[in-house]
Amino acid sequence: MPGTMKVLVYEGVGKPVLQERPIPELQKPTDAIVKMLHASILDLWNRAPYHQRPFQSVGTSVKSIKPNDKVLIANIVTSCRTCDNCKKNMPSHCLDGGWVLGHKIDETQAEYVRIPHADGSVHLCGDKCGRVTPGCTIAIVGAGPVGLSALIIAQLYSPSTVIVIDLDQNRLKNAKRYGATNTVVSGKFSFLSSPWTLCLMFMSIIAFRTQRRRRSNRSNRQQRRRYRTVIETAGTPNSFDLCQDIVTTGGIIANLGVHGHKVDLHMDRLWGNNITVSAKMVDATSAATLIRLLNSGKLNVKGIATHQFKFDEMVKAYETFGKAAEFNALKMMISF
Ligand SMILES: [Zn+2]
Repeated sequence: MPGTMKVLVYEGVGKPVLQERPIPELQKPTDAIVKMLHASILDLWNRAPYHQRPFQSVGTSVKSIKPNDKVLIANIVTSCRTCDNCKKNMPSHCLDGGWVLGHKIDETQAEYVRIPHADGSVHLCGDKCGRVTPGCTIAIVGAGPVGLSALIIAQLYSPSTVIVIDLDQNRLKNAKRYGATNTVVSGKFSFLSSPWTLCLMFMSIIAFRTQRRRRSNRSNRQQRRRYRTVIETAGTPNSFDLCQDIVTTGGIIANLGVHGHKVDLHMDRLWGNNITVSAKMVDATSAATLIRLLNSGKLNVKGIATHQFKFDEMVKAYETFGKAAEFNALKMMISF
């Protein structure tokens, strides 16, 4: 396919720029070349962009889609659907794919993108690692787009309580609007989306003092462990530490956050409490269900996309998303 296209690339940490690159071509019969219509951007700075991209495919030996179909790309993973891991419903660990997009090959913040194993790499999204059941109690740490999405989906399973914890009052207001039974402002942990070093230092001091107090007061610690399912969405050491603090005996910590730094697993106090910790890539196996629920009006996602940008404005979109608290930003909607 001749010609060039605009793509978003990183020239360094926190330095996204638009460049001209050749339009990708088919490399295998199972590939599809996709013309992007819409996209969004990921929570953490400088990570692979992802999510919900209707597209137009250009034909190959792919059987499930044809040129001009409008479909959804499977997040950042591709799936061959035939290897051992794909058969175990773990396409994020596909032996001939997995986390490929934006990792091993150019990803979808471009006007065109090549999708390997197109048959297994569309109409996939969402996750179920929290094992939410009717009547259970849930705490969601982080009220960004991932946390709010977890809040919306969790309510499909009729939990008795869902609390949401965040530093940002505006985001907690959104959590209330999307169905949280309670919200908590926490000063114990920090988000990578907060760029102020002094703020991070301050929070680190608070976290250290909190940890020291926790060690000296076992009864208080037990009182805080009261949620059956604790969903971590911030991807920071302190937020993961908080999850370990508030999970109840027999509970589960479901990690959805993308961690860029090591975290401590406090087995000294978790081992005897039948705690389960789940962490996984986004396997994106629920997209078809979610699309049906959206189309039937069962999912209230109105207002999640707070800002809209043209693809030419991608750098501005990242700047806005990087100052989420200042702009009350949740999800950026990018149109090509
Ligand atoms: Zn596979």
